[in-house]
Amino acid sequence: MRKPEAHDLLALWERGAPRHPLDRSALLCAWARPELPVESIADLPLGEITASVLRLRVACFGERIRAHVDCEGCGERLQLSVSIPDVLQPVAEPVLRDVEAGGARYRPPCLRDLAAAAGERDTERAARLLLARCRLDGGGDDAARSSELSVLEIENALEVADPNADIAFEVRCEACGHLSTAQLDAAELLWDEIDVHARALLADERLRPNGGGLGRGRSTLVRRRAHYRRRAVSEREIAGGRHDFPVSRYQPSAIQCQAS
Ligand SMILES: [Zn+2]
Repeated sequence: MRKPEAHDLLALWERGAPRHPLDRSALLCAWARPELPVESIADLPLGEITASVLRLRVACFGERIRAHVDCEGCGERLQLSVSIPDVLQPVAEPVLRDVEAGGARYRPPCLRDLAAAAGERDTERAARLLLARCRLDGGGDDAARSSELSVLEIENALEVADPNADIAFEVRCEACGHLSTAQLDAAELLWDEIDVHARALLADERLRPNGGGLGRGRSTLVRRRAHYRRRAVSEREIAGGRHDFPVSRYQPSAIQCQAS
């Protein structure tokens, strides 16, 4: 992948800054995958988006991610150092575009599905809405009514088909021994870094006398595990900003990221 130059990062930042986080994911993936039609990005499996964004991150800032996660047991801040090649899961060959589970066929969720489920305030209903959208052989209403057990079965099957949709790993607290699961949000990670980088570049150019407001990149990059179905709900605020990328063009009820 071509390493983005400073002007590329600034251009990405300018385009992404006013956008919704889902649209930023699509924007970053589109940059990473110039061979794909832009309008197809919102329909890619989420894991493919994540893998593409992480490869772009390697090109921009290298393989190593340094971040932190707060222990759920005692609140201790745990420093993490993660290698992107280590966390990216190999994808089955040939790529599974759909799976059979719970007596039906499903495709992995995409950004457009997350946007569609974003307006749903109830976690369970949002998860079922996602599954109903992803069911390939009709019967979306059945999916919406399926049991908790079959929902789990379907989600597990989808995770096998699209293993990078939810990149998570276990972290043991050095202070209290509590074992938690941390989730890596690739687009949020890269966006935060581009944001910091772009602001620093702009500050350099302008030689701002007070030098304030720089280098405060949030490193809440690795967050508590939340499966994508829950992610869709936790980020449920309706975005009021302007959107011009495919996801929110099709789904005005896009979702907004909440740092957690
Ligand atoms: Zn702890």
